[in-house]
Amino acid sequence: MVTHDDPSGAATATTTTAGAGPDVRPADRHDDGSTTTARARPRVAVWKFASCDGCQLSLVSAEDELLTLAGEIDIAYFLEVTRAVSDGPYDVSIVEGSITTPGDEERIRHVREISDVLVTIGACATAGGIQALRNHADMDGFRQTVYAGPTYVQTLATSTAIAEHVDVDLELRGCPVETDQLVEVISALLAGRKPVLPTHSVCIDCKLRDTVCIAVADGAACLGPVTMAGCGARCPQFGRPCYGCFGPMEGPNTSALADHLTAAGATAPELVRLFRTFNTDAPAFDREARRHLPLAGQPPVGAAVVAGPMEPPEPPEPPEPPEPPGTPGTPGTPGPAGSAGTSGTEATRQEPT
Ligand code: SF4
Ligand code: SF4
Ligand code: SF4
Repeated sequence: MVTHDDPSGAATATTTTAGAGPDVRPADRHDDGSTTTARARPRVAVWKFASCDGCQLSLVSAEDELLTLAGEIDIAYFLEVTRAVSDGPYDVSIVEGSITTPGDEERIRHVREISDVLVTIGACATAGGIQALRNHADMDGFRQTVYAGPTYVQTLATSTAIAEHVDVDLELRGCPVETDQLVEVISALLAGRKPVLPTHSVCIDCKLRDTVCIAVADGAACLGPVTMAGCGARCPQFGRPCYGCFGPMEGPNTSALADHLTAAGATAPELVRLFRTFNTDAPAFDREARRHLPLAGQPPVGAAVVAGPMEPPEPPEPPEPPEPPGTPGTPGTPGPAGSAGTSGTEATRQEPT
């Protein structure tokens, strides 16, 4: 048995050892010989890896629901909200952030060992996050440029999803995750049922909300057709295209969308930038970005390259002043001053006398 403090301070909760889920615990025997049964509260831990904390704050934002949930779960480890911690094992671990250091690799394996169920939350944890842009760049170059003494900077060359290191039971998408989805997952775990989460595209939610399609109406480059729903099509409601923060939907046809955008005038660098944001390392988005890299005038993937901001086009060169009479070259088709013109003969510059 493992005994630990109740975060509400109201009582002491007792759970069984490793792997115990939210089951009815064995009967408690009282002094008078009677017995009662009580439902063990699942012990929940919330972990942070490389991230901005925004997804943890989504959980904290569930103010009303948290008050209810606090009576149903034991928040045993959640440094974002309390320094009071109790040791594992835990029934449920919620993990935010990506793996970017050797220490992270070691720590996530430990978290997996002491967790019965492991849920990853947000683009960082499920696809490496925005920091996975380093996966297409020269990490050593960054390190040398940013730090005066990079000798002691311990970092990996890549930022990767938690699922690339340990088994994950459930992934929640978004940057940040939606509070409603977090509450749904915790409620489902408490009830022992499968969480109800959408797998369709953001476009479906636009239709359900009667939101005017800004891709059709304004020609906006919207990733909604290939992005997983879950946000309620928030951005198009405010006249902004979807930037794909929920990552690819199930079976996304990214090439059809990219071909459509190309036909509408999008350039290769624009397409690379479109697919390389919050979920740059999600396989479907990464594949589509790579498809346009050679066209974007950049070296193939594997070289040190990041799809950088698009430069404005170079202004046209001012026209050359007309050649003075007597410049060598084919008559009628004078070349630039000092050149051979179109005759192919070697230029013979006239030295001033
Ligand atoms: S997914 Fe977005 S909001 Fe969540 S931790 Fe990563 S950067 Fe922050
Ligand atoms: S605005 Fe974007 S997400 Fe909404 S229907 Fe149009 S393409 Fe789909
Ligand atoms: S519309 Fe797209 S970018 Fe906006 S919140 Fe939803 S998934 Fe994220």
